[in-house]
Amino acid sequence: MLTILLQSATKLRTQTMSLPTLTNGHANGCGAPKDYLPLDIAASIRELRSKKNAIILAHYYQESEIQDIADYIGDSLGLAQQAASTKADLIVFAGVRFMAETAKILNPQRKVVLPDLDAGCSLADNCPADQFAAFRSQYPNHVVVSYVNCSVEVKALSDILCTSTNAVKVIQSFPEDQPILFAPDQHLGRYLVSKTGRKLVLWPGSCIVHETFDHQRIVKLKARYQNALVIAHPECTEAVLAEADFIGSTSQLLQFVKDSPKAEFIVVTEPGIIHQMEKACPEKKFYPAPAEDGCACNRCPFMRLNTLEKLYLALRDESPTIELSNELCERARQPLERMLALS
Ligand code: SF4
Repeated sequence: MLTILLQSATKLRTQTMSLPTLTNGHANGCGAPKDYLPLDIAASIRELRSKKNAIILAHYYQESEIQDIADYIGDSLGLAQQAASTKADLIVFAGVRFMAETAKILNPQRKVVLPDLDAGCSLADNCPADQFAAFRSQYPNHVVVSYVNCSVEVKALSDILCTSTNAVKVIQSFPEDQPILFAPDQHLGRYLVSKTGRKLVLWPGSCIVHETFDHQRIVKLKARYQNALVIAHPECTEAVLAEADFIGSTSQLLQFVKDSPKAEFIVVTEPGIIHQMEKACPEKKFYPAPAEDGCACNRCPFMRLNTLEKLYLALRDESPTIELSNELCERARQPLERMLALS
């Protein structure tokens, strides 16, 4: 009975919900009026995807229902590699803006849509290109390695990009005496210093999600789940990383739990990744790490702006699109392709 009531409530919500403001165009592709939302959104997405030869790329931090409908789910590196190799006519990017921009840089001729254009990133937003250019000019002998979580303008000011999966390899690709400036995540930068033994000049940026994981709460969780391993993303603070049994990018964390003989894990990154961990290892247990004050700020507010409804509308209306100038795309593509060649 409860299930029937919940299904009815979901249908009612779907039928009566007001549309997000991004639906400013006419419907296309399925011939439906622009204020129409189908009852079975997932089925309609599948139909439209096939009709339009579209690909849906989704990050691990997306809602589970988006992950379940994506053609490819991955971290920044995997998503960039998929974007570089796709033959689709339309790329629907379920992630944040810098990721969709990366797909556009690699596919200037293809249409790239992002379900919610406000899906930014604190790392990208807090590294304005003009300030970064002034910072960079203080270190003329340094090569600039930028984490892919930055604006397209900052990418264009960089010599090479990296993700958390390949950052160590990228840093180690330079001779030991080559000075390096790393931007924009200071915590990932400090982790790279500890892993590579290199001195890096760091831009003082941070991720608002990973920075909120609370050291004391993680220590308490460890005491409560004494058989659990702590696995953490390198965007976390140094104090939190000191508690970790394994540190890695989201794809590396996922691989670690698959390979590990252990059955319990305290997961110190955005909890969206736990959906894939539970699918891959249904017999294992995953405890999301708490943020400060027990708030829900361990969920990325930018990633979570995307919803299945917005994804359907973006696919149906082929909007909102990512638009970048050819000249900017060209300059940003070179450091991106250097990274992909190393990966
Ligand atoms: S989790 Fe952090 S780094 Fe990732 S998109 Fe959100 S704010 Fe940016």
